[in-house]
Amino acid sequence: MILVLWDVDGTLINNGGVSKEMYAAAFEILSGQPARVKARTDGRTDPEIMRDLIEQHGLEQTSEHVAQLHSALAAAMRAKADVLRKRGYAQPGGREAIDALMQRSDIVQSVLSGNIRDNAYIKLSTFDLHEGLDWEVGAFGSDANHRPSLVKIAQERASASYGAEFGPVNTVLIGDTLRDVRAGVEGGARVIAVTTGVDSAEDLTREGAQIVFRDLTNTVALLDAVLQVS
Ligand SMILES: [Mg+2]
Repeated sequence: MILVLWDVDGTLINNGGVSKEMYAAAFEILSGQPARVKARTDGRTDPEIMRDLIEQHGLEQTSEHVAQLHSALAAAMRAKADVLRKRGYAQPGGREAIDALMQRSDIVQSVLSGNIRDNAYIKLSTFDLHEGLDWEVGAFGSDANHRPSLVKIAQERASASYGAEFGPVNTVLIGDTLRDVRAGVEGGARVIAVTTGVDSAEDLTREGAQIVFRDLTNTVALLDAVLQVS
């Protein structure tokens, strides 16, 4: 069996800048002051993004901030769901790619995202991309701060759920940033990269992506690339 783990932002959707506004709103909930600096995202996990944002404001992250992180992010995302629907969009070919992989009984698909689970679900369901993914075996920013650690978490969940071993050979991560590639290299997964995010094909390849596509529209080539790993 093969475990396919999808990244969310830049890979399956373009959030239209709504994510950065969501982090600003979450920061305001946590700190009581408006954000003056934009969040740095690019494949970081939600806990990393919020810690960085807090520190960029000259504040120190407190245990109270950490305790309220999840609820602040979830509340901020819920408040932005309508604007996400208006300004964001599904990346071309994403739905078709998930559907094509769904046809294979030897492929399990889920999500590996720095977003907390609730927010990854809102983002994908807003654009009808949530179906066909087994949400019980994914790994999220709500599971660990360190993206590479998420790979093993997903593999263990999938192994427990499907009674098959998932390791570096039969796990494929599909993502758009250098941090996705590093998560695969360090965490134990092959990486298929797309250049619909911020990073270039050259950089993604140099970091260790096995294959880089311009986008997700070539369903046949994408399926081939997934199957090549086994
Ligand atoms: Mg991404």
